[in-house]
Amino acid sequence: MFEELNSRPADSLLALIKAFQADERSRKIDLGVGVYRDAMGRTPVMRAVKAAEQFLLETQDSKKYLGPEGDLQFVRLLQPIIFGQSPASEQRLVGIQTPGGSGALRLGAELIQTAKPSAKVLLGTPSWPNHAPIFGSARLAVREYPFVDLTSQQVKFESMSEALSSANPGDVVLLHGCCHNPTGIDFTMEEWRRIAELLVAHRLVPFIDLAYQGLGDGLEQDAAPTRMILEAVDEALIAYSCDKNFGLYRERVGALYVMARNSNELGKAQSNMAALARVNWSMPPDHGAAIVRTILENAEMSAMWRAELDEMCERVNGNRASLADAAPDLAFIRRQRGLFSNLAMSKDIAAVLRARHGIYMADSGRMNLAGMQPADAGAIVAALRAEGC
Ligand code: PMP
Repeated sequence: MFEELNSRPADSLLALIKAFQADERSRKIDLGVGVYRDAMGRTPVMRAVKAAEQFLLETQDSKKYLGPEGDLQFVRLLQPIIFGQSPASEQRLVGIQTPGGSGALRLGAELIQTAKPSAKVLLGTPSWPNHAPIFGSARLAVREYPFVDLTSQQVKFESMSEALSSANPGDVVLLHGCCHNPTGIDFTMEEWRRIAELLVAHRLVPFIDLAYQGLGDGLEQDAAPTRMILEAVDEALIAYSCDKNFGLYRERVGALYVMARNSNELGKAQSNMAALARVNWSMPPDHGAAIVRTILENAEMSAMWRAELDEMCERVNGNRASLADAAPDLAFIRRQRGLFSNLAMSKDIAAVLRARHGIYMADSGRMNLAGMQPADAGAIVAALRAEGC
């Protein structure tokens, strides 16, 4: 059976983790894999998460099955954080717990495949490397368009506008809700308004990927574009991840929300989401969602979580400022948001930065701003200069 398989390349970012660990130099900086790091270089368990785990340890009295929708109280309690308090948005949305944002994207892709297999998915590049494979593996056609010019660090709005204008009604537009991965380049509110107009004019369906809420400018501000788009359109999908903003990466916590035109269509979407979850993973892993639910049910834990998330956000933006201060031509890094910025650089230069300077970033030139300390800014800029970038 397996003779017919072709081997696939290993994930290059995971290889980078191993290479960094094996590097014996004391001066080395890990800007590679996309996880938050604190001032000690650790990816800690958040204080509110520890408190919730303690609470669950003492009070959870059963681990019996919950069903394919997972923990619906978790799904409901996230709703005001993502969508605000508007009762209208609540009535037009259904959600289901998923294994991380990846599970939400996968389930959303399968829902689209079930509802409208001819729908194309428009994807601006560069994007998170898993986007195209996830939609492709649900047998959807992915149409990529150039989204960003890395040399000028500007959005190619014209290219996006053309791609959306030439799409067919019912096609899907993948949008990063905030903290674009890998570029950190988010739209201005004015650009978001123009996108909303294009979506409405061409009857396109936004699929918003919200994986970093709270790590750009804070929870409310990071949700503003999503809320604005949902006000404008009839139908939408939202893939949400709690893995970054609750630091729950390996627990795999996320949700897929669907907004539909009426309760009849909403009900159909909901039953299909449950059926698709059933054949994929039967039901999602509970522990992470139980932690998030516990935090959101408890005012004290919620306040702890919000305060620590704000600290994380400030630290990343502080690192952005220190790099921008160290090199005027990197001023764009200060404006960008989220864990990542993407320098225009060849794979060879990325390899030289590792070998000569102990600075680890993805081959694409993507750097995780949480991986540095403000004091590293000078060394990073000197290495970039030495290699002519
Ligand atoms: N979307 C984007 C843009 C991401 O960067 C990631 C994670 N790197 C995901 C989705 C998936 O998140 P999760 O780890 O929760 O599956």
